[in-house]
Amino acid sequence: MTHTVIARAPGKINCYFRVGPPREDGYHSVASLYLAVSLYEDVAATARSDQEIQVSLHPDSTVVSEPESFPLGPDNLVVKAAMALREHTGHYAGVDLCITKRVPIAGGMGGGSADAAATLVACNALWGTGLNREELARLGARLGADVPFALQGGAAVGLGVGDELAPLLLRTRTDWVLVPASYGLSTPRVYGMLDRLRAHEDVQTPTEVDPMMVGALLDGDLDALAPLLANDMTRAALALAPELGVVRDLGEAAGALHALVSGSGPTLALLARNEAHGAQIINQLSDEAGVATLQVHGPVSGAIILPAHPESL
Ligand code: ATP
Repeated sequence: MTHTVIARAPGKINCYFRVGPPREDGYHSVASLYLAVSLYEDVAATARSDQEIQVSLHPDSTVVSEPESFPLGPDNLVVKAAMALREHTGHYAGVDLCITKRVPIAGGMGGGSADAAATLVACNALWGTGLNREELARLGARLGADVPFALQGGAAVGLGVGDELAPLLLRTRTDWVLVPASYGLSTPRVYGMLDRLRAHEDVQTPTEVDPMMVGALLDGDLDALAPLLANDMTRAALALAPELGVVRDLGEAAGALHALVSGSGPTLALLARNEAHGAQIINQLSDEAGVATLQVHGPVSGAIILPAHPESL
């Protein structure tokens, strides 16, 4: 009998993202507030009788991708995650990894990191390697700064390169309308543009997420929250993709409380008052501007193993 484990991990938006100057190691220190949202990646891990690791894209994927933007070989983060787990545990098993992709590729929503997190959880269960969440997060951090958060989910403050996570006990739901772009933006390219734009500015290393913003989020005070949402990457993403400014204005004209670039973009996140208000924004954007959108909410949980039949969820 084939043995398959399916794990699901969420994409994220950054409600707050401050970026410091480039460091000597080439990275940037950030202060980020991550929110896991209800747009998920699924990775089905199926045991193989040899030691190969193979990747495929499930036909239910809503993100159709060009081969160059979505490697199906060793560069795929799911392969890197499975190899990292094998090396760490010495359990050199083979696996077929089938990804159901829903998070826009290179969209600033950490989709690749969600895939890596789901793979770690699925393979750890499939292979019975028994690593706990902290061990998986340590392994994941080596694959990408956003992997520990995709494992943990919920909401968290991220410092360092985004990997020093402090979970936030957030019980208030926020509703968002996402506007994915038809193209991706490479994260290093957006950081490079930001550095060029700020070449003559005195940029400080961020050390905290605005406590007023955190307070407003915890209180569910959307009117206080909206003007405090912030992302330093916005100007760089807009410089590389000026049409994002047009979509942002359309989102605000459609009634969004605030329109924010997520991470390094180009996905835009529009804050809605509630689910019904989100649906109104979606209708207006679609009817008046033909803009395609997705409705999500947060916080949602981090990587989990799905019951055997995900269709029944
Ligand atoms: P982040 O917000 O974490 O910076 P992102 O959401 O903008 O990332 P991803 O979709 O996670 O971007 O991936 C960026 C690049 O990584 C892609 O352009 C692709 O070449 C490569 N990649 C490798 N594995 C994956 C994967 N499983 N899913 C998506 N991209 C992947």
